Amino acid sequence: MQIDVKLFTLKKRFPLKISYGTTAQTTNVWVKILHDGIEGWGEASPFSAGGDALTTEMIYSCLLEVAPTLAKFSPYERHRIEKVLIEANIISPVRAAIDIALHDWFGKSVGLPLWKIWGLDRSTIVSTSVTIGINTPDGARERVRKWLEYADVRVLKVKLGSSEGIEADKQMLLAVRDEAPSKEIFVDANGGWSLEDAVTMGKWLADLNIKYIEQPLAKGKEASLAQLKAKQPLPIFVDESCFTSLDVPDLANSIDGINIKLMKSGGLTEAMRMVHVARAYELQVMFGCYSDSALTNTAAAQFSPLADYLDLDSHLNLINDPFCGAVLQSGRLFPNDLPGLGVQYRATSA
Ligand SMILES: [Mg+2]
Repeated sequence: MQIDVKLFTLKKRFPLKISYGTTAQTTNVWVKILHDGIEGWGEASPFSAGGDALTTEMIYSCLLEVAPTLAKFSPYERHRIEKVLIEANIISPVRAAIDIALHDWFGKSVGLPLWKIWGLDRSTIVSTSVTIGINTPDGARERVRKWLEYADVRVLKVKLGSSEGIEADKQMLLAVRDEAPSKEIFVDANGGWSLEDAVTMGKWLADLNIKYIEQPLAKGKEASLAQLKAKQPLPIFVDESCFTSLDVPDLANSIDGINIKLMKSGGLTEAMRMVHVARAYELQVMFGCYSDSALTNTAAAQFSPLADYLDLDSHLNLINDPFCGAVLQSGRLFPNDLPGLGVQYRATSA
């Protein structure tokens, strides 16, 4: 099989500020696998998960190095390819792009969308949340208004863990809730709280009917999660603390769910494994995203009937997404009936 790689830059409508930085645009990599006259597509996005960043440069150079070594494989050898890439310590976004492209190729080769190959029921897909980044209370209100004008949004994920402390978090959360009183609200602190702050916030947010808190403590502070779980009532999801299924067993007793992202897991193969391992520990699962285009979010939408919560909104905040695929209907992101991922290229204006 032949692998082509190409860079493309995505610009955000609203820059996103979270506890460890602000992003206005990213350059991602489009991976194409060509074999037997069929093209499979995948994407690799740069990200930072509370530790060292995986940059576009790292991803691109790794892909250029790896691509020729995979020429000897057939796209049907997905598990063997995954093993070879893991043994070579290839970074997760590169493995993700290849694995997503192999799935797309396979779906196209048999003429079926992935959700159908997996026997999944699209009617069980839950609403996707859209993200309100760290902001002033007035700025947050404005973002909520803009989101509601722009898309049929049912659920908001509010980023807390402000460097100005939990009083600033509280003021922002109250502003969002006041602006959208009928919307469900989830909270993601991106590791921005101390244990003490997280206990205080968990209790305070529970009184406001918030559904869960995500990554309350920084990556590396996992030993304190059990204490946090015991001292406040809200379910705890981890994101930065959980990359693959191997991370789940040690965390399982101190959390309630995991946020699975294709760029962390290294693709759909491992993401599916994470779902099953999490279920074996009676944990809930959420699917999330980084600065991904519609290509990666459509890949996640393909197995989204398996998720309790969905946060696949990054492509909805782009002004020049070159891809289209899964469509937002009544707040839910539905994969289409086209084979593979069902992702198509479109001309962009920006
Ligand atoms: Mg998160």
